Parts: sequence; C-alpha cells; structure tokens
Amino acid sequence: YDLRNEDLKDLQELGQGNGGSVKKVEHVPTKTIMAKKIVLIDAKPSVRKQILRELHIMHDCHSPYIISFYGAFLSDPNICICMEYMNKGSLDGIYKKIGAIDIEVVGHVALAVLEGLTYLYDVHRIIHRDIKPSNILCNSQGQIKICDFGVSGELINSIADTFVGTSTYMSPERIQGAQYTVKSDVWSLGISLIELALGRFPFSESDPDDSDLSDFEGTLSPGTIGLPPKTEKDKSAKKDRRKSKGVSLQGGGMMMSILELLQHIVNEPAPRLTPEGRFPEEAEDFVDSCLFKDPDVRKTPKDLLKHPWVDQARASTFDLETWASTF
Ligand code: ATP
Ligand code: MG
Repeated sequence: YDLRNEDLKDLQELGQGNGGSVKKVEHVPTKTIMAKKIVLIDAKPSVRKQILRELHIMHDCHSPYIISFYGAFLSDPNICICMEYMNKGSLDGIYKKIGAIDIEVVGHVALAVLEGLTYLYDVHRIIHRDIKPSNILCNSQGQIKICDFGVSGELINSIADTFVGTSTYMSPERIQGAQYTVKSDVWSLGISLIELALGRFPFSESDPDDSDLSDFEGTLSPGTIGLPPKTEKDKSAKKDRRKSKGVSLQGGGMMMSILELLQHIVNEPAPRLTPEGRFPEEAEDFVDSCLFKDPDVRKTPKDLLKHPWVDQARASTFDLETWASTF
C-alpha cells in the first residue's frame, strides 16, 4: 500500500488513549478497511522522520498473533499508523461489555500473547512494553492479536514526554527504575489475565488483605518517585477510588492514588487469581509464575509457552469464533 491521508475515508471513532486516537477508515482505492492510529508528535522533523524509519520494521512482522501493519505516514502535526482492523475491539472493551471472561478464553489469550511476545523477541528483538487488555484485540474469526508494541525508540521517547496517567500494568522492577526486559511484559500479562478473569482491575477494591492503602510509607528508592506527605485530602481521595472501582485512577486529581498503587505493587504481595478454587489450579499457577516480583525468578514468554495451562489451551477444541459471535 502507498498510503496517503487523502485516500483514507473516516468511518468511525474506535477509541482514545494516552498516545492518540484510533479511527476505523477505508482505504478507498483498494476498499481495504483499516484502523488508523493518529499520534500527535511534538518533535522536530528529523525526529519524526526517524520514527517513520523505525516503524518500518513493522512491515517485517508477520505472525498470526500480531496485528498486521499497512504503513505509516506523517500528516502534520501527527504520525498516522495504519493497521489491521479488529472488528471485535480490545479485550478491555469486551469484558466491560460482557463481564468477566470465561477462564478457557483467558487461557487462549495467554497463549496468543505469549506466542506474539516470543515472535517479537526471537525474530526482531522487540520488547512489547505495553501489554494490557486495551492492546489485545479480537475479531469475529476468534483471532486474538497484540498491537502497540515498542518498535520505535524515538516514538516511545516522544510519547513518554507527554505521558500522564496510569502505569498500572508496570512491573515492580520497572517502577523502581530497572531496564525493560521481556519479563516485564510477562508481569503485565499476569495482571491483564487476572483483570479479564475477574472482570475488574486486580488492584481495585475488595482485596481483603489490603486493609488500608494509605498506611504505606514512601519506601521506594529515593529519586524514583517523590511522595508528598500525607494529608486529609489524600484520605478522601482513597475513599473516592474505592467507591468507583479502580478504573477511576484515570480521573482528575487522583495522582496520590496512582502513587499509592505504585507503592502497593512494589511493597505488597502480587495479586492472585482468587478466590482459591474458583479457577483451575493450572490457571492459578500460571498467573503466579507471571507475577513473581523478582524478575530473576519470573519466567520468559518462551519458557511459559511450555506451561501446562498453555498446553491445555493449545490442545483445546474451544471455539473462539462461536464465543466471539456472542457479543
Ligand atoms: P493507551 O494509549 O494508554 O495505550 P489504549 O490502548 O486504549 O490506551 P489506543 O491505543 O489509542 O489507546 O487505542 C484506543 C482504542 O482503540 C483501544 O482501546 C481499542 O479498543 C481501539 N483499537 C486500537 N487499535 C485497534 C484496531 N487495530 N482495531 C480495532 N480497534 C482498535
Ligand atoms: Mg493501545
């Protein structure tokens, strides 16, 4: 495809994120339906061209578990990235619509994400860096694919400059300033799988062990995150967050709760698939192995592809196409 903005007809808004917005479009000359991601980049022309060059690697990414790439172009002041359109949207939208996802389907999600991550790393030495339900997409054929991986270092830098928000899938070692590795993606996968299976973000309310989040003191290493002293206002912020179920972290004036959450991830035991006995033991064990807090103990995506729960998903005859036709 030789993509030009004039050839793309807007059909529908698909969503907005931190980095930009995504639209369903038609490439009129070829009648191809695509998803067009528009990223506002406040950077010099040389940097923008560098980003385009880096995005080019995506042309060589071919896997059934990775969103296909049609091309990218500059459209002042934006960068537009055109990719395969997934007509059932992302898994966060799906569980918010239909409720907690069947654990059998969650097993297929684990398999697909691990295959995608292993492909990206083994073939291209790419680390995803942003595994979360909104970056795992589904279509009506029942295919599950990952998108928004960190191919372009310059793009990551440019977005990071303007980044405000929830880093809530971030591993403990990342919060403490360590390098990204494939194992950081594994942590994010573990958190995402719990979220899908429970139908809510795992660090949000009704965690029986988490008696009072605001009791945590600033034990992060100096210089990572400055933690302001606690005030009465912080306590009411905490209450607001509990009332409104985790997702409210994105609301305005919630910075204190984000810091609390980051502290919680670093200092407290990792979340688990609970209550015990509700899910298959293999699923519990898989999630536990994604969420070892020490990255040296945590496995790589490739290792985890050998986990019994993933073997089960691979061997299962569960029909994802039929499942996807129910919503
Ligand atoms: P963040 O910016 O924090 O990564 P996000 O992933 O939700 O959050 P975007 O990547 O901008 O933000 O995506 C916005 C929404 O667009 C997603 O939640 C998803 O539902 C939808 N979307 C993204 N890519 C596609 C695609 N290829 N096909 C269909 N829907 C898509
Ligand atoms: Mg995204």
